[in-house]
Amino acid sequence: GKQVYSFHEGNQDMRELLGGKGANLAEMTRLGLPIPAGFTITTEACMAYLTNHKKWDAELQAEIDQHIEQLENETGKSFNSPHHLLLVSVRSGAKQSMPGMMDTILNLGLNDKTVESLATETNNPTFAYDCYRRLIQMYGNVVNGIPSYLFEDELSQVKKQQGIQNDTDMKASDWQLVIAIYKDLYHQQTERDFPQNPKEQLYGAIEAVFSSWNNERAKVYRQLNNIPNDLGTAVNIQEMVYGNSGNQSGTGVAFTRHPATGKPGIFGEYLINAQGEDVVAGIRTPKPVSDLAQAMPEIYQQFVSLAEKLEKHYKDMQDIEFTIENEKLFFLQTRNGKRTAKAAFQIAVDLVEEGIISKEEAVMQIEPKSVDKLLHPSFDQEAIDSAEILTNVGLPASPGAASGRIYFDAEMAKERAEAGEKVILFRQETSPEDINGMVVSEAIVTSRGGMTSHAAVVARGMGCCCVVGCQELDIDEKNKQVTIFDEVLIEGDEVSVDGTKGVIYRGKIPTVPSTSDDAFQKLMAWAKEISRLDVRMNAETINDIRMGLNFNPDGIGLVRTEHMFFAPERLREMRRFILSQHAYDQKAALDKILRYQIEDFKAIYQEMQSHPVVIRLLDPPFHEFLPAGNRDMQMVANQMNLTINQLQARIEELTEVNPMLGHRGCRLAISYPDLYKMQVEAIIRAAIKMKQSGVRVKPEIMIPLVGMKEELTRIKEDIMAHIENILIENKTYIAYSVGTMLEVPRACFIADELSEQADFFSFGTNDLTQMVYGFSRDDAGKFINHYLSQNILPFDPFQTIDRDGVGELVKIAVKKARQTNPNIKIGVCGELGGDPDSIAFFTEVGLDYVSCSPFRVPVAQLAAAQSTI
Ligand code: ADP
Ligand code: MG
Ligand code: MG
Repeated sequence: GKQVYSFHEGNQDMRELLGGKGANLAEMTRLGLPIPAGFTITTEACMAYLTNHKKWDAELQAEIDQHIEQLENETGKSFNSPHHLLLVSVRSGAKQSMPGMMDTILNLGLNDKTVESLATETNNPTFAYDCYRRLIQMYGNVVNGIPSYLFEDELSQVKKQQGIQNDTDMKASDWQLVIAIYKDLYHQQTERDFPQNPKEQLYGAIEAVFSSWNNERAKVYRQLNNIPNDLGTAVNIQEMVYGNSGNQSGTGVAFTRHPATGKPGIFGEYLINAQGEDVVAGIRTPKPVSDLAQAMPEIYQQFVSLAEKLEKHYKDMQDIEFTIENEKLFFLQTRNGKRTAKAAFQIAVDLVEEGIISKEEAVMQIEPKSVDKLLHPSFDQEAIDSAEILTNVGLPASPGAASGRIYFDAEMAKERAEAGEKVILFRQETSPEDINGMVVSEAIVTSRGGMTSHAAVVARGMGCCCVVGCQELDIDEKNKQVTIFDEVLIEGDEVSVDGTKGVIYRGKIPTVPSTSDDAFQKLMAWAKEISRLDVRMNAETINDIRMGLNFNPDGIGLVRTEHMFFAPERLREMRRFILSQHAYDQKAALDKILRYQIEDFKAIYQEMQSHPVVIRLLDPPFHEFLPAGNRDMQMVANQMNLTINQLQARIEELTEVNPMLGHRGCRLAISYPDLYKMQVEAIIRAAIKMKQSGVRVKPEIMIPLVGMKEELTRIKEDIMAHIENILIENKTYIAYSVGTMLEVPRACFIADELSEQADFFSFGTNDLTQMVYGFSRDDAGKFINHYLSQNILPFDPFQTIDRDGVGELVKIAVKKARQTNPNIKIGVCGELGGDPDSIAFFTEVGLDYVSCSPFRVPVAQLAAAQSTI
């Protein structure tokens, strides 16, 4: 098939084939934006080349040559014309953007002869020789693998000799000198002369871009971002425009909205008289794009209006690369911009309010997992007031607050992080090679570079706290130390970094979780409106409940009552109940626990008011409450008036080989009916007290681990009779419901029988997964990683629902349950309740709600809305 497409032939929907950059260059061409002419070689051609032992076929060769001819016609330039010289860029571009991960070559086509033509044609020899030396440098690096620093060292050498500070002060003769040295270096490294034939240069560059798909940093990036390895990269060949042709020229990068805060308005940086990566490389300090409004007002107006047009067209914030050549504006790239989670919410909400997207589209724009990052911590205010500022001139590139130990290279950072340390990476600037160190860091700090530098872009993408351009830091990577005025910090010293303000402090500072902003609230409210699933939280402590209530959950889906039994005075009574064999003692213990539990439930109702609350009756096996260790044993023996031997004997009686499959859940209530009666009594008495104070609560009482219909009917009868007595005694009425967990596989198969007896079901996906796989939840950690790394399991079924097994069982149960009780409310209360992929499944099978830990509630709400759309 066709392997090369002119920019006139493609469009934005062809990302797969043309890569993101190519598809968007074609789309912008279609929209009539000023785009230098060019064509794209497909990702398929790349994969064919890579799988065919790095050879391309005759057809591709012919297509490339034909498109070059076409390009020459379209531009009126040619590779050999002395007056209208064609130079091109060769740019990689995969389906998903991989910033800086693959390679670009500029000014391709120059050689010893054409550089002279360019000099005469433009009447600007300085510019022409600058272009040529850039070509040799980029080509040598990308095609022949000559390390960039070898070229840069030579350049520094020449600058030093000539007494020149800035590249922009170099004269034609200086660049000629550099070119001669570069060519020597090239020869010395490759044992060949720098290729003079433009076509030969072109083919070499295309092959190198194809091959860059498999370079180390691209592979690491793909792994980190779950990008498949078999997509390949497209190659874009594009007529050059020259931002380095004088002071009426320049190049820049801009976002249509602020990538860290989401604030509307063009935000970006540019450099006058510069080319390509100069802006992001941090060699010169760029100016804010808003300065262009003064420097080149017409260009600025044109830029702003075209940028807005692009944003409206793509319905999303754009990240744009542009170049100005002699006061003529060109767009070189656009893509949906990477942004912080905070900015993502702000932008989505603003786009809705500006009428550009719908609420549904806004909800779809947010990656649910990024919500975690929005809840970034900030430093404790009191601690901050007394903290010592090391520097406060850094740029706040990516928000957050983090403390850790300083390391100056990625490898060391990685090593120390793996050893469990919190690390902070300090670099003059980062490059794609540092990626391994960046991902493990709590924060990243650079002394150079701007808001669009590599460090800033990557950190925002990862949600990692980052401060860049901290000019007061003199970072010495070689000697692993940083000097701030007369102060020196060395490797391993502790600092704290505020990525929201751009400040570095000495030492460690405690953090507090962030509170959410307006845009967050608005978007989450839309998500709730849209979502068909309710989202509840699993919580029992007052702190957790209060924290979770900030996210407006639809109630509590799971109160684990056993968590209330571990405070010393309660544990003591619980132990008395379990260990004593006298009915009198047992009753006394339960009476005490009853009083505690009434208070517990009242406190929960108080927080939740009339929102639904599911309370699960006692679930764990008794052994979890028993003493272990000598001191504990002695203490309990004393409390219980037993000898150590008697105590040991009783514990032995209670010991189980496999407690998680043993005497637990509703099985306890079959043996000890008074236990659940005490708990429901507390639930109802607390509800009565609430009613007296004017709050109507409707408790949902949940029986765990049911596998047989008889278990449910017996226990239900028992507890309902008890509740009726209490209500009669109090001459009052409380509405309550009784339901059961579905967590034993057998319960799923008899869900039709159970649902005749139950007001609601809640899937306990942790136990259900455990029993469906026969994987012990507490031991699976030891081997599950082997299953994952050998691809025996595609993912951990305790984290994402196994649709084929556990999911099938869920489907069967839902279908059967609704056959006999069409209105039964069905939810989920395991870990999977907070996992976006699993939530999509739960929406599909028609559940009513999911319940998850408080911090995951917003993630679940978004995922629930997205799975409804
Ligand atoms: P990346 O994918 O790393 O961003 P690009 O292919 O976008 O790499 O190229 C990097 C930079 O090179 C661009 O931002 C632009 O400044 C410059 N560049 C690429 N093609 C051209 C061109 N045809 N004319 C002028 N500059 C170009
Ligand atoms: Mg680019
Ligand atoms: Mg369970």
